[in-house]
Amino acid sequence: MRVTSGSDWRDSIPFETPLLLADIAPGGPARCVACGVAADPLERDRLWVVKHRHPNDHGGFVRFYCADHAPAAAATVAGPAPDAVRAKRAATPRAPRAPRPTPVAERPRPVCPDCFVEVPPTGRCGVCGTMVA
Ligand SMILES: [Zn+2]
Ligand SMILES: [Zn+2]
Repeated sequence: MRVTSGSDWRDSIPFETPLLLADIAPGGPARCVACGVAADPLERDRLWVVKHRHPNDHGGFVRFYCADHAPAAAATVAGPAPDAVRAKRAATPRAPRAPRPTPVAERPRPVCPDCFVEVPPTGRCGVCGTMVA
């Protein structure tokens, strides 16, 4: 069992549900995963956190998003967004010639052992700056 600096706050949040980071894991400014490491860190009340499933880690991993990059559900977090989206998708008739997008095998990236945040390709955690091999 690896010893980490904090409790595993991932356990307290549901999968694939955008939540305000300040409510879940208060702390210092952090970076949006999409803005990248070059962007200025944002206060946590301006960041969304989403827990994604990780093929190799039962606990999943989290990503932080700014308002611009937050998954669409974050904009309507008060409403029944996921179900509505799913229903809409199911109701969409099959497009006759729509080429099916090739599923991109998203290669799992390492997760920061302290923040449980997926580490960008640079290998440096965008939140705490730890280098993760
Ligand atoms: Zn962003
Ligand atoms: Zn970190």
